[in-house]
Amino acid sequence: MTLLRHTPAGEIKEREALVINPAKTCQPIGAMYASLGIHGALPHSHGSQGCCSYHRSTLTRHYKDPVMASTSSFTEGSAVFGGQANLLTAIQTIFSVYDPKVIAIHTTCLSETIGDDMVQIRKKAFDDGKVPDGKLIIYGNTPSYVGTHVTGYANMVKGIVRDLVKASETKGEHLAVIPGWVEPCDMREIKRYLNVLGVPFVMFPDTDGVFDAPMTGKHVFYPKGGAKVEDIATAGAAKASLSLGRVATALGSEELSKTFGVDGDVVDLPIGLAATDRMIESLIKTYGLTVAEAINDERGKLGDLLSDMEQYLWGKKVAIFGDPDQLIPLTEFLKTMGMDVRHIVTGTEGNYIRDRLTEINPTANLKVGGDMFLLHQWMKNEPVDLLIGNTYGKYMARDEDVPFLRFGFPILDRQGHQHFPTVGYMGGIRLVEQILNLLMDRIDRDVEEHKMELQM
Ligand code: SF4
Repeated sequence: MTLLRHTPAGEIKEREALVINPAKTCQPIGAMYASLGIHGALPHSHGSQGCCSYHRSTLTRHYKDPVMASTSSFTEGSAVFGGQANLLTAIQTIFSVYDPKVIAIHTTCLSETIGDDMVQIRKKAFDDGKVPDGKLIIYGNTPSYVGTHVTGYANMVKGIVRDLVKASETKGEHLAVIPGWVEPCDMREIKRYLNVLGVPFVMFPDTDGVFDAPMTGKHVFYPKGGAKVEDIATAGAAKASLSLGRVATALGSEELSKTFGVDGDVVDLPIGLAATDRMIESLIKTYGLTVAEAINDERGKLGDLLSDMEQYLWGKKVAIFGDPDQLIPLTEFLKTMGMDVRHIVTGTEGNYIRDRLTEINPTANLKVGGDMFLLHQWMKNEPVDLLIGNTYGKYMARDEDVPFLRFGFPILDRQGHQHFPTVGYMGGIRLVEQILNLLMDRIDRDVEEHKMELQM
């Protein structure tokens, strides 16, 4: 906070070797989140205890529920001689003490730098009889000196496909659905769409019922939610795949196509009107279905809200930061609302991200692989009416006295994000509602007393 007060307005210096307040976090957090979308899986952090504590605590603070994970617990010896011995002992101990269906191993900076070979160690665990019958080990390589938490999610999704899907000569009618990194409630909402539209599917990862499991009075190590291993296996016999959010899902989609011959569409996360339309158009293309009246009605309600409220939204300047799969459809949706997106920062790098965001909003300040210091400078040079991003934006919002919508990961200081979807048409309505509330509250706070309105 104090540091932020020193963020200078005016000239912005190009920086290549210095990141200040990164708009990202590290790969294994995404891998851990994806792993917990498998029923009965225990994420395992192959590295030092500190990494595992950090990753667990970030997810725990976002969900306000304890997150289970184990660690290879590297010491100086492992750093010198490699982590194989620790990992083999860990595998044996985890299966005998915690009895998971699957151990989902992700690597860390240290184990990747040492060069621990996960293919070889996994094989040795099976060869040495450390894996009981019917139990499974999957892995994802997640070195955090490249990429971000989104890359980690993508790498573990690829591992889920590679290690859990089974090849099939014959194809069925079901759809293999890979949701990007969205909240448990968003995964539930996407499943509701598929059910209403009559599309048979298997979805993985699926954190519905994992991070938002109800309190029952009993402690369960493995919540009832999550994609079942036997269901994931059937993705190899799917008619097609549908992946939502290219950055988080393209690796898994490619693996499904290359190894199992299951092809399909990779579309944006269904955030906002147009992106939800595109998800449904993909389903129409694959299944030739007629859109159910209930879904059409929801679309109409969102359209009605947008046209009724445009006068309050039109021309309002917005700064947004976060993960690319969210930013791409969200920027598009804000423009649909008539808002003027002025500044966009994502911590994840890539030409695809730059091209899509430039195409959607060519006039905004855009930094792909940028940081929040730069975003703050932009906001000082060209003030906005609204800031959208994760919890870390609250300091900039306070400093610039700008309404702030918490959106994305992590949200450490508020509740509700795991329960109320922002995908689909109804999710769009929620986003419009949240944005309107912030803008109207600001008007009610600042307007001269004699101009105070009782109604919109
Ligand atoms: S950046 Fe690397 S060392 Fe740091 S917590 Fe993440 S995985 Fe561990």
